[in-house]
Order: sequence, then structure tokens, then C-alpha cells
Amino acid sequence: MSQQSASERKLNLSRSRALFQEAQQVMPGGVNSPVRAFRGVGGEPVFIERGEGAYLYDVDGNRYLDFVQSWGPMILGFGYPSVLEAVTEASKRGFTFGAPTQAETELARLVIESVPSVEMIRFVNSGTEATMSALRVARAYTGRSKIVKFTGCYHGHADMLLVQAGSGVATLGLPDSPGVPSETTANTLSVPYNDKEAIKQVFETYANEIAAVIVEPVAANMGLVLPVPGFLELLRELTAKHGALLIFDEVMTGFRVALGGMQERVQITPDLTCFGKIIGGGLPVGAYGGRREIMQVVAPLGPMYQAGTLSGNPLAMAAGIATLKELRKPGQYELLEQKSQLLGEGIARVLHDTNSDAQIVRIGAMFCLYFTREPVHNYADAKRASAERFASYFWEMLERGYYLPPSQFESCFLSLAQEEAHLQEMVQSIETVLRQQA
Ligand SMILES: *Cc1c(COP(=O)(O)O)cnc(C)c1O
Repeated sequence: MSQQSASERKLNLSRSRALFQEAQQVMPGGVNSPVRAFRGVGGEPVFIERGEGAYLYDVDGNRYLDFVQSWGPMILGFGYPSVLEAVTEASKRGFTFGAPTQAETELARLVIESVPSVEMIRFVNSGTEATMSALRVARAYTGRSKIVKFTGCYHGHADMLLVQAGSGVATLGLPDSPGVPSETTANTLSVPYNDKEAIKQVFETYANEIAAVIVEPVAANMGLVLPVPGFLELLRELTAKHGALLIFDEVMTGFRVALGGMQERVQITPDLTCFGKIIGGGLPVGAYGGRREIMQVVAPLGPMYQAGTLSGNPLAMAAGIATLKELRKPGQYELLEQKSQLLGEGIARVLHDTNSDAQIVRIGAMFCLYFTREPVHNYADAKRASAERFASYFWEMLERGYYLPPSQFESCFLSLAQEEAHLQEMVQSIETVLRQQA
């Protein structure tokens, strides 16, 4: 999508434009995380002033129904009263102490009660730290070096994981990143997602060298790719058979596709799980946890070193506790599923009626539109979807007041703050946009 058609829009984004000019003087690309720069759709980013419930308000006074939710955390919507109160109260007691607080144990218990495979947990400050540390645990525990990941899966930006990663890297089209020495990734094996033969082959070749397989149990950083039946089961079987650990990266899917994450939906018990996003309720948090016996290698109990000045931060713990308490109330995930179904069926009907070449993929409170008729099972399939069509759809939807992820390789999120009427209106807007495109 070109800058030109972006500038033909009726939407007034003049203040966003000005702020972006300023930001570019002092920060690379004007942003602190690449995908925010809107390069995946051409044009310039919208600067946000505030969020309220299901809505975002930009600096020019435009209002959008938000489907990005800060890339996942804001599942309750903005300014949720109990979360706001918990963070406000915690902030009065002090921002950070670097000493233990009861809130850490409380959030740990809430995660452990929700996700039975997790018996012990360590809080960190981001999803990146969570996956990086979980792999260190796996290597320490098994005494092995090699790790297996899947092409197009994103596990944060740690050097060893920046191989065939999706998300921002995919959008920018970087096959890899300069600054990552090949020695660092020499022990990272990358296999196509959903490819059962390829993963069997890897285990035949490196049987006793693999410390862990790390996987997004739903791949949500190349759009939204569901695991084919038997794929996750095969990973469980092969890792168990060969003495490797299975790590589910549920930074995005945790507390989103079910209270117990994707592992609850597929009834598979990973050895370790990574969390982030929702468990911090919008403040910076990550966590990794799993079987007690494995987590016991972590210092100071065991020899594997991992630390953090702000880890277990009181404000982040308060936001996380309040958020999970809300999500643990009966019926919340049924409600999210109802919304998802309503939207999913509405969009599917529109795609059919307009004879569109797009398809919708959805699971729990997340969904994605791919502009291709071919089924999408892996990263190569995802890249075949039309980036131009996506970009045009993105800008048309923005114009109509919908803030979608500015990249076809990102998933859209539903929240408890969105109402059925919001979603019905969205379906109508999508119909209008698709008819225009046709
Ligand atoms: C967002 C994400 C990460 C990285 O988390 P950050 O907090 O951005 O470092 C890791 N894994 C998955 C699956 C993610 O979606």
C-alpha cells in the first residue's frame, strides 16, 4: 500500500504526523518497537493519547475500536476499575523495593492454579526474558546445547532465537538480523511449523543433543496459524522419548485462548511454559515456569543464574493479580468465545457473500484475516497472502474507526470490553471495505 493512498484519506492525522516527525529525530524510526512504525502497511503511525474501555483515542481526537490491545495484554479493556485501583494502591506503597513482597507469591499462585503444568514460576520483565531464561533452564537441566524452534514462530528478540522469526522481523523482511553472530545461532535448529516429517527427521539426526523444543502452541506471530491435529502431540511424544524438554511459549496464548492457555485446550502437558502480556495486565512482565523438579535448577535454589532488578515489580504484580482475578471469574472465557464466534461467523458470511479471496482464522479471543484462498499451515503459506490487499483493508478500516495490527503477520485480539454491537458493526464495515476492494 502506498503513502499516496494513505494521504488521500479523510481521517485527520496531522498531529500524529507532527509528533512522528519529532520522534524520528531522537529514536530510530521514531518508535521503540519496529512494528509500531506501520511499515508493514505503508504510511505513518497513529499517536495514541489514551484508552478507555474498548476504545483508543489518538492525539487528533479520532476514536478507534481497539483490536491490538497493546499486542495482547489489555484483555479487560482500558481503565478497568479493579486493575486501576490495585495499581494505584500499590504505587502509593512504593514502586519497587528489590526485596520480596507477598504480591509475587499471590500472582504465582494464581498462575499455578490456572495452569496445572506449572508447579513453580519465576517472574521476569518481558516475554523475551521468559523464553531466553526457559531455554537456559532446559540446557542446564539436560546438559545439552541444541534447541529446536519453528520457522515464523516469534519468541522475543534474544540472539539465539532470532532465526526465521515471524512478527516484526517478518514484516521487515529480515531473514535474520545483523549483529547476531552465527556462533550464537549455531545450536538453533529451525523447522517448518506443522511439519511432522521434518521434526521427526531432526530428532533422528540429533537424538541426544536436543535440550528443548520451543513452540508457540498457536502460531500468532505469522498471522494466526493453528496447529494441525497431532502436531503438538508429536512434539510431546518425541521430546519425552529423547529426553528433551517441551517448552510452550504461551506469552500470547496464555490466559487468552483459555484460562489455562492452549495447553488446556489440547490437553498437553509441556515441561516448561513461558508467559507475558496478559499476566502483567499491561505493565511489563514475563514469567517462566513448569515442573518443580526442573525449576529447581534456577538460582538461588540451583546453579542456573537468572536475575532482575525490577523482576516481580510490585506495580506489575498488582496489575497482574487484579487482571487474573477478573479472568478467573466463572463464564469469562465462555463470553470471549461467544464474541469470537459471533465475529468469526459474521466475517465468514461476508467473505462468502462478497466472494472474497480472503479467509478468517480464529481461536478463542484472537483472529486474523489472510488475503489468500490457500490454507495457511506455516510461514511459507502465510507469506503468500497479499500484503497489498491487507494494507488497503487496514487503512480502510482505520478510516472507519477500527485500530487493527498494522501488519498481516499479527493477530487481532478481542476483549471483554467489546460489546456484541461493536462486533456486528465491525462485520458491516468489513463488508463495505471488501465490496469496495472487489
Ligand atoms: C510477544 C511475544 C514474545 C515476546 O514478548 P516481549 O514482552 O515482547 O519481549 C515472545 N513470545 C511470543 C509468543 C510473543 O507473542
